[in-house]
Amino acid sequence: FDDRDGLIWYDGKMVSWRDAKVHVLTHALHYASSVFEGERSYGGKIFKLDEHTDRLITSAKILGFDIPYSAQEINQACRDICAANQIVDGYVRPIAWRGSEMMGVSAQKNTIHLAIAAWPWPSYFSPEARAKGIRLKMSPWRRPAPDTAPVHAKAAGLYMICTLSKHQAEQDGFHDALMLDYRGQVAEATGANVFFLMPDGKLHTPTPDCFLDGITRRTVIALAKDAGIEVVERAILPGEMADAREVFLTGTAAEVTPVGVIDDLTFTPGEVTFKLIDAYEKAVGKAPTSAEAAA
Ligand code: PMP
Repeated sequence: FDDRDGLIWYDGKMVSWRDAKVHVLTHALHYASSVFEGERSYGGKIFKLDEHTDRLITSAKILGFDIPYSAQEINQACRDICAANQIVDGYVRPIAWRGSEMMGVSAQKNTIHLAIAAWPWPSYFSPEARAKGIRLKMSPWRRPAPDTAPVHAKAAGLYMICTLSKHQAEQDGFHDALMLDYRGQVAEATGANVFFLMPDGKLHTPTPDCFLDGITRRTVIALAKDAGIEVVERAILPGEMADAREVFLTGTAAEVTPVGVIDDLTFTPGEVTFKLIDAYEKAVGKAPTSAEAAA
């Protein structure tokens, strides 16, 4: 991934992709003092850019540092790096981190860096997997309590649990993992939120009190309400998942992805999921594809 053509926005400069490096004594590498975003550009426009930039700045503040650029400057840098790499439909990855001046747990004075990369990225899960519904495996790792970790920051440290969970799921032949929280309630997948269409005809989704309240999650809740589908945010226990008629994930990368399997439970992607896939694709400015997805 580091050996390719293109440019990366790095502390205010356009740097060649191959030269966009950090020192091995970078604080972020040793102590996970970094925060990042995942954004998508559709037709040359980054969807919900303001929301992503706000979350990046807030995530940094939660970790106790200020990004040395304004929201407007960060927005412009995201647009500039897409333009510089001629990305029309792609993924944008801003990352901010503590640099390498002081090596030790404390690094109060280390320089805060910001880099932004962008690359073409059509689909997080393969189109075939999306059509049938992806296969999720329950993870043995749990999302931590809000007084154990900065759970509302999109902080690199929290992704240790996600990588462990996703690797285990993939090694066992699944696409992704579904994690419970510290209380044993259903939380989220490793890079996406989860929704269940329950027998009451309403969409139920876990209250985001110890994991990210995804920008896609909030978008899909609004789209569901517009379509006359009621959404209930509440504590969901794993034993309730067997009652679900449809299950899907939401995330910037995952978009709206149907779920076909959770361990030994099976689900068939249905009308509500496809309706929301279409609504989401319309909202982001893509031509609808769920007819293909259903095929
Ligand atoms: N949870 C986790 C752990 C994630 O990494 C993501 C992706 N950022 C999400 C949820 C969904 O968030 P969003 O819809 O803002 O991309």
